Amino acid sequence: MICLGIEGTAHTFGSGIIEDVNGRCKVHSNVLRSYQPKEGGIHPREAANHHATYASDIIYEAVKKADIDFSEIDLVSFSQGPGLGPCLRTAATAARALALSLNKPIIGVNHCVAHLEIGRGTLDNCKDPILLYTSGANTQVIGFAEGKYRVFGETLDIGIGNCLDKFGRSVGLKFPCGPDIEKLAKKGKKYLKLPYSIKGMDIAFSGLLTAAEQYISKKETLEDVCFSIQETAFAALTEVTERAMAHTEKNEVLLGGGVASNTRLREMVKIMAEERDASFFVPSKDVCIDNGAMIAWLGCLMYNSGIRMNIEDTSIDQRFRTDMVDVTWRE
Ligand code: AMP
Ligand code: MG
Repeated sequence: MICLGIEGTAHTFGSGIIEDVNGRCKVHSNVLRSYQPKEGGIHPREAANHHATYASDIIYEAVKKADIDFSEIDLVSFSQGPGLGPCLRTAATAARALALSLNKPIIGVNHCVAHLEIGRGTLDNCKDPILLYTSGANTQVIGFAEGKYRVFGETLDIGIGNCLDKFGRSVGLKFPCGPDIEKLAKKGKKYLKLPYSIKGMDIAFSGLLTAAEQYISKKETLEDVCFSIQETAFAALTEVTERAMAHTEKNEVLLGGGVASNTRLREMVKIMAEERDASFFVPSKDVCIDNGAMIAWLGCLMYNSGIRMNIEDTSIDQRFRTDMVDVTWRE
């Protein structure tokens, strides 16, 4: 089975082609392009315009790189949510047009679940992980329990990536700011105390953001503030992830999302996993960030488990929650 997936929840438009080879995901191509705001954060309509401009080029390139013909595609899938309305609508429109013109089935998938499934589909021995999903807008700790992917903990205000980007912008860094903050943090030496807010299993970052900005106006060095943000925020993420692992008695942890590129976050989660005798997994970078291949793979799993959608079922859902999905393709 060959599936073409389309991703467009936020800044990235991507198209990937995968094949189900005995239940494992083989990625044939995975092409993407990200909208870069000239200043400030992501403007949903401008990001959607970017997606509309490049959608057909990216889809054609994905097909070319996979070295297949359009007629060999068995299924089209796309990210139905959560995400920014105008971006989701653009990606969904592209997917519907493609499925209708090829006369092939279409499946809309949950973006967050796709981050988890691509880990299971591409990494050997990653079977039943707790996913720490850290991206711009989303921050969730997700695991499978009783037929659903449950959210054990999540941000109560802003995503961790958003927190880093907002802080970065306030000190003049270029978007996305995470990579620069990581570089600066490596040179930081002094730990400055920041709010560490875990409420139950959920996390809040806006207090930390405000306090970090205040340290800058009090003339603490940018390096020390970046170091302290990372140490505090990532420790909180690691703590919630560990609690979810303890609660569910799972012994695998998987990272996903753009912030998972960060070496310090990886290190902290890896140490936690080792201390619990658990396995630590990070997908390769091309499928860890927002991408079309993971959307294709989840579409394929859903289709093979018997799920079918009509065009009427493919409307987008900006607030599509991870735990709304009936997981029919695994136990
Ligand atoms: P996503 O929304 O999953 O595409 O992830 C984008 C987010 O990842 C942005 O907020 C970036 O600032 C952040 N990001 C990317 N690379 C890094 C890094 N090395 N360290 C921390 N955050 C990062
Ligand atoms: Mg994502």
